[in-house]
Amino acid sequence: MKYLDTQIEFANGVGSARAKAFKSEIGVYTFEDLLYYFPFRYVDKSKFHRISEVVSDAVHVQLRGRIVNIEEAGKPRQKRLVATLQDDSGQIDLVWFKGGSWIKPTLQKNKELIVFGKPNRFKGKFSLNHPEVELAESARVQMGVSLKPIYGSTEGLTGSKLNSNGIQKVTQSIVMQGEGRMPEFLPDNVIKALAIPSRNNALLWVHLPPNAESLEAARKRLKFEELYLLQLALIRNKLITTKRIKGVIFGEVGRNFSTFFNDHLHFELTGAQKRVIKEIRKDTRQGYHMNRLLQGDVGSGKTIVAMLISLLAIDNGYQVCVMAPTEILARQHFISFEKMLAPLGLEVRILTGSTKTAERKEIHESLQSGQCNIIVGTHALLEPAVQFLNLGLAVIDEQHRFGVKQRARLWGKAKTPPHVLVMTATPIPRTLAMTLYGDLDVSVIDELPPGRKSVATSHRTDSSRDRVFGFIQDQIELGRQIYIVYPLIQESETLDYKDLMDGYESIARRFPLPKYKMSIVHGQMKPEDKAYEMEQFVNGNTQIMVSTTVIEVGVDVPNASVMVIESAERFGLSQLHQLRGRVGRGADQSYCILMTGHKLSTDSKSRLETMVRTNDGFEVAEVDLKLRGPGDIMGTQQSGMLDLKIASLSEDQELLQAARHMAEKIMDEDFELEKPEHERLKAKLEQMKRRTANWGIIS
Ligand code: ADP
Ligand code: MG
Repeated sequence: MKYLDTQIEFANGVGSARAKAFKSEIGVYTFEDLLYYFPFRYVDKSKFHRISEVVSDAVHVQLRGRIVNIEEAGKPRQKRLVATLQDDSGQIDLVWFKGGSWIKPTLQKNKELIVFGKPNRFKGKFSLNHPEVELAESARVQMGVSLKPIYGSTEGLTGSKLNSNGIQKVTQSIVMQGEGRMPEFLPDNVIKALAIPSRNNALLWVHLPPNAESLEAARKRLKFEELYLLQLALIRNKLITTKRIKGVIFGEVGRNFSTFFNDHLHFELTGAQKRVIKEIRKDTRQGYHMNRLLQGDVGSGKTIVAMLISLLAIDNGYQVCVMAPTEILARQHFISFEKMLAPLGLEVRILTGSTKTAERKEIHESLQSGQCNIIVGTHALLEPAVQFLNLGLAVIDEQHRFGVKQRARLWGKAKTPPHVLVMTATPIPRTLAMTLYGDLDVSVIDELPPGRKSVATSHRTDSSRDRVFGFIQDQIELGRQIYIVYPLIQESETLDYKDLMDGYESIARRFPLPKYKMSIVHGQMKPEDKAYEMEQFVNGNTQIMVSTTVIEVGVDVPNASVMVIESAERFGLSQLHQLRGRVGRGADQSYCILMTGHKLSTDSKSRLETMVRTNDGFEVAEVDLKLRGPGDIMGTQQSGMLDLKIASLSEDQELLQAARHMAEKIMDEDFELEKPEHERLKAKLEQMKRRTANWGIIS
């Protein structure tokens, strides 16, 4: 039996009742589990006070002394336990309300104790209420450890006397007795390359830090270890699935692709677009299943790439489905696919929630007979009634709105799963993308089509609204179109709706008919009304589009040159960036104006400053990640990938890069981990796999 695998009930002072609490409350079953239950912070206890020095209730103090008296005071239902601590400078009362029966065993008379807490002043006299108490001969104190670890506890744990101190005691005894029995599994060269401590030392120091430097080293080691194992599992999983899952083969570049490329594409592809197409070509001709994420800033030309790959699929005898998160966006895609591809004689159809029954039926038949080459749509495409003759490619736009499960449902629609191309305009660092999206491959379009001017972004407050309106008027005189966007946040939908309507009215007063025409689009409108209003704007019949964020993704009106975002402080960074991407699509200089009130939180300020400072989506994404942390960004919680114990995907990106790099290296050299020096690592990965059985089913 290996020491670390010992069941937690066998730890000193645990037993079966506490073991139960450990298991059900925090999933700790073994010694190892508890050692990987890390403190969430540390309190510096390097300084001791004398009791006579307790003169303020503002400062926590640490005292060393002996108990000279213990008594219970108060009425029966409001009992308190009062213990008097004495050192050579004086006495102070330690007080526990509700009886404090659990602390009593620790308060042995004449044993030297260390007490830590916040002084409480009552009628000019100081006491410490509910202080932390430990024996001066405890391991921590004996080792001269001045950083005291604080562990997260729960009600259920506290009920079993496992508050932070209780947990600390158990952890300490395990880690001390484990000296030399907590074997290394990282390869030697990795440890050397990173100059990190051994596993034994890291576990010891993280729970009993001798000083701040060792603690940092220990944390670095444990973070790296966590990220490295995660990357190894991801890479292995990906290599195994790509080998296992067969994919259809797009072997040839055929007539449609060539005709479109030679006769209908009126611009030169950017280098980045060409590179990505090559990557996808390679993926789709080998007989393995492709699962690829295509990242690129708004306007970087992802749609053209998707179109070309669609033609590749069609030329090889397959059908294509294109899925978008909203009706409006689906319609936009439909319009551009149809405009570009109908001249080739291809059948492009659209299916959404608002498609009429008769037409729906006809589309279903057309898909089953293979007549329809490309179907564009929303979630409606996932319905069981939608069946294909031979679906070969699924293009999914803005994937963070589609869950993993929904993607999997597309798979069910073909004998061999279709290749999946997921497009997102929320760029995130590559390593992070790979971690968040499990075994997706990642392609990046990191170059905008030539001639794009970057959007000039400014931040204005309500007091300069007149000037902003004046500017809008000038732009309209020049023949340009304007977006004005209002926030719509579910929780306060009615209020937001009112803001939008009030805004609409005041804009309408400032820009009256017949000279000026406006469109309005919001979520409470019928789809056909939305589509109509949208069309009016797209066709240039209206100059101003007032809307909620429904226009956020995809909509393409090159003549629009101004994006005004109202209450900009209420939008997230990636959303602001997406909205800004709606302008700057034509040859003219474009503008983004962020309107806010005067009072702003620190986070709002840094979001707005970032927007004003840069147009670079990756830079915006980095800041977003720092402000929000990765958990909020992608809605990928279901992947379980973000359940990290010590590392942080947003803060530890350098370590993440290193972990990725080293994991790739070892997988290149020894995929099966058969070399003797990798034996322990292999065992560790297998242990992990047994415990996280859901790793294989990601994406
Ligand atoms: P995305 O989907 O990445 O936001 P789109 O594919 O909609 O971007 O492209 C934005 C605009 O740029 C479209 O009008 C498209 O026709 C145009 N475009 C795409 N690629 C190029 C290119 N290589 N050169 C010039 N214009 C391009
Ligand atoms: Mg797009």
